[in-house]
Amino acid sequence: MIRFTGTLLICVMMTAAAAAQDYKALLQETHAKFKNLEGGANANYIPYLADVPSNLFGIAIVTADGKVYEVGDTKYEFGIESISKAFVLCKAMMEAGPDSIEHAIGVNATGMPFNSVIAIELEGYSPVSPVVNAGAMATNSMVKGPNKDAQWQTVLNYLSDLAGRPLQLINELYKSEAATNQHNRAIAMLLDAYGHMWADPMDACDSYTKQCSVGVTAKDLAVMAGTLANGGINPITKKRLLDEKYVPKVLSVMTMEGLYQTSGTWLYHVGLPGKSGVGGGVIAVAPGKMAIAAFAPPLDPVGNSVKAMAAIEHISEKLNLNLLASQAKK
Ligand code: GLU
Repeated sequence: MIRFTGTLLICVMMTAAAAAQDYKALLQETHAKFKNLEGGANANYIPYLADVPSNLFGIAIVTADGKVYEVGDTKYEFGIESISKAFVLCKAMMEAGPDSIEHAIGVNATGMPFNSVIAIELEGYSPVSPVVNAGAMATNSMVKGPNKDAQWQTVLNYLSDLAGRPLQLINELYKSEAATNQHNRAIAMLLDAYGHMWADPMDACDSYTKQCSVGVTAKDLAVMAGTLANGGINPITKKRLLDEKYVPKVLSVMTMEGLYQTSGTWLYHVGLPGKSGVGGGVIAVAPGKMAIAAFAPPLDPVGNSVKAMAAIEHISEKLNLNLLASQAKK
């Protein structure tokens, strides 16, 4: 019996070591395959983002049981931008409940640019989705705090818990965004006029601008998204951050509109919920299995990192992660 248990243990350890080697090799192969991929350009409507070195490229995987694999520029801190929308949605859902998100904000796709004003008007004056700018500011405003600073600290603490380390604002990025976010301020005022703000609209816009300016690495993003792959528990720190039954709700929102107007194209190719940001990051979640994050600043015309998407698509294909795939019963 003891000999059998020992043999079993050695087999399990060998299988785990082989899997680790496979993941490392896959990451290296993926990085080499796409590091010279042409196409796209840094976002430049936020001046800071235009100056981030365009050739940075990092990829990280965090498995649901907490193993971390990384390759390339995974220590470089860049702006989380729109990816924060999915995570602040988690916090707002914990505070306000999924019904408030569904009925007061919406869980459908606008199919329009992330900063669209027309989308608000067309859809009965509502933000439609928590992952476009309008819905993200409304979502942020659902996170409560006794005052503006405390509310922001609550948001930052939550993002830090997801990353498993204290995250910080990239101050230069925040200044750059705050000086050029007139359009977002206008959206916040419009939403307030339509009764879709749960805090002072300028405070919500500022807290949203800050959440977008938080610095993360590709590895941080993989850990953060790992919580969504692991039923709401951070796979590294083991802290519960999202109710298990809310996880599919957040992932459904990401599936609908996580990659802007080309979310359908993404789903068609990758078959996983994802979220991208104009800082060059993209995350994808394979429920119960792993999260993948990639970072490279050049974006396609709608705002998705060209290399990050290609890398994640390749990894998803190699690991058979597509959620929509099935095998025929014989
Ligand atoms: N802070 C950016 C904005 O509000 C985020 C955009 C994005 O990443 O989609 O325009």
